[in-house]
Amino acid sequence: MIEPGATIGILGGGQLGRMLAMAAAQLGYRCHIFAPERDSIAAEVSAAFTCADWTDSDALARFAQGCDVVTLEFENIPVAPLQTIPEAMLAPNLRALEIAQDRMKEKRFVEDLGGRPAPFAAVNSREDLERALDLIGMPGILKTTRDGYDGKGQWRIANTREAAGVPLSEQPLVYEGFVKFDAEFSVILARGHDGSIRFWDSAENVHEHGILARSTVPACQRVLDEVEAARAIATDVADALGYVGVMTLEFFATADGPVFNEMAPRVHNSGHWTIEGALTSQFENHIRAICGLPLGATDLTAPRVEMRNLIGKQAHEGPAILADPANHLHLYGKAEARKGRKMGHVTRLVRD
Ligand code: AMP
Repeated sequence: MIEPGATIGILGGGQLGRMLAMAAAQLGYRCHIFAPERDSIAAEVSAAFTCADWTDSDALARFAQGCDVVTLEFENIPVAPLQTIPEAMLAPNLRALEIAQDRMKEKRFVEDLGGRPAPFAAVNSREDLERALDLIGMPGILKTTRDGYDGKGQWRIANTREAAGVPLSEQPLVYEGFVKFDAEFSVILARGHDGSIRFWDSAENVHEHGILARSTVPACQRVLDEVEAARAIATDVADALGYVGVMTLEFFATADGPVFNEMAPRVHNSGHWTIEGALTSQFENHIRAICGLPLGATDLTAPRVEMRNLIGKQAHEGPAILADPANHLHLYGKAEARKGRKMGHVTRLVRD
């Protein structure tokens, strides 16, 4: 067990790190942020900050020396330099990170465990793309296998004209068939060192322009019908990885059952509602898991919980949001309300 007063290292300096550090503080821990950007909103609420590049192995080694456990809030971190951090200190482990940061690897991994992704094919050339279109058909989505987030690095292809216009770069890509889904949902779980697992209720997620806009609990009936099957896959993934901490798997709910979309080896935007909407939040249970503490109950605190992201200028709605006492406002303290940037979120507990 990591004793209170110890230091938790967090790789990544964004809002997830900020909310993890706030949960860690409640349990008596100090946090040390490692991030390449100078303006870190996670460092603002933490005891220490190392600002260095992800490839700076010396800085990573020094950072780890000052920590008792190291976790992450961002998965697109090069794995090789992280090998300077003793394996036993890292939660989740590097294998989980390696798989989750590559769309091809995660699809194959989940498929091998019996999960069902959308039909997919690797695309490294124009010929590969033509073959993938023949095999899978259109419409579909071409995605970079690495470094994509919030709909970035994705091209929708509805016809051959659009396919011809897609820019193919050096980056490996994956072409996926377009899934006709009734709803999108996520399975978020916390797994302890002893292998015990707790799930939160699955939120129904609505994306706009590839970015999560809203998460609602309880989800629609289609999702409720498919949660058990999705949890079974998530459990197998977590067990196979010997995972410790919070992990998220995103699914499409379809007439033929859950279709796996992607996984994140971390707390997730679709779980922000758990701060007020569950007895223990995803952030607190992640800290508990990586510190070897017992996991907290995940039951709902209200019959219905709605989370809405505040994107770009929506952050300025703050005062109006607080005029309703059922709302809980979270602002991340980001300086610039750029288009498409997640600035905060609001969670509403609905009791009637
Ligand atoms: P991703 O970055 O893979 O999570 O994609 C962002 C969003 O694009 C998803 O949440 C879906 O709304 C949509 N999307 C991605 N892949 C597919 C697909 N194969 N079929 C239908 N919609 C998709």
